[in-house]
Amino acid sequence: MKIVSTIAETRAAVRAAKAAGKTVGFVPTMGALHAGHISLVRAAKARCDYVAVSIFVNPTQFGPSEDLARYPRTFDADCEKLISEKVNLLFAPSVEEMYPAGASTLVIAEGISERLDGHSRPGHFRGVTTVVAKLFHILDPNVAFFGQKDAAQAAIIQRMVRDLAFPVDIVVCPIVRESDGLALSSRNVYLSAAERKQALVLSRTLREVETRWRAGERDSARLIEIARRVLLSEPEVRLDYIEIVDPASLEAIANISQPALVAVAAFVGSTRLIDNLLLG
Ligand code: AMP
Repeated sequence: MKIVSTIAETRAAVRAAKAAGKTVGFVPTMGALHAGHISLVRAAKARCDYVAVSIFVNPTQFGPSEDLARYPRTFDADCEKLISEKVNLLFAPSVEEMYPAGASTLVIAEGISERLDGHSRPGHFRGVTTVVAKLFHILDPNVAFFGQKDAAQAAIIQRMVRDLAFPVDIVVCPIVRESDGLALSSRNVYLSAAERKQALVLSRTLREVETRWRAGERDSARLIEIARRVLLSEPEVRLDYIEIVDPASLEAIANISQPALVAVAAFVGSTRLIDNLLLG
């Protein structure tokens, strides 16, 4: 695996791969890699000849009171994992490489960026779209791989790619979970043993919604009420939001007659976790 930190080296490596007729797959990450990230790498390896991964903890997608400074950084272990997956290129830039002094250009998907996490984390998604647009310019991938775990992010990236005609296919891969249902997340390392147990209420809530939906309930308000009750059964967990929305526009759905995304965010101790489920 070639490890590079500059835009110039990355462009040269990708150009050489493309000149050799290879299709380029790209997996953007913030590192602290787990099996969820690796599932994206494997999907990329299965579909593309040349796979590039980025590790960049993007400061512009963190709010002022969020966990940027303490976000887990495990670069050496990440490299080992990517080498054993036979990744071709790792792009791990510095903040200065990605944001030259005086950088002032933003990419914003208006409206959709204020929904779900965008509502709770103002400015988060414009940080995401700005950095992903820049990474797409640098890596020029044929296909880019994102996780359904961050369903709103996936929808917003798809909107950006469509609106700005980026020549890249977006593939969204299923959520990887622990055997007890907890969705894998780099932030799970923040959880104490007790919190780890409490955090299971997120996936339990989603499963209960799915059960009621399978039994015929189609009214979002009633499903959300049921979900709130399950979440409240875990008193240490503080609900941020639970919503049922259109998976592409992220707009609320009152009656479920089409595919719907049930998305939940909650604080377990000081750790904010998200999870979601697609109905239909
Ligand atoms: P992050 O490093 O948290 O920015 O995540 C990088 C990519 O991995 C994003 O596209 C995430 O949606 C994806 N991802 C994170 N956790 C999971 C998971 N448990 N299952 C599938 N994909 C995931």
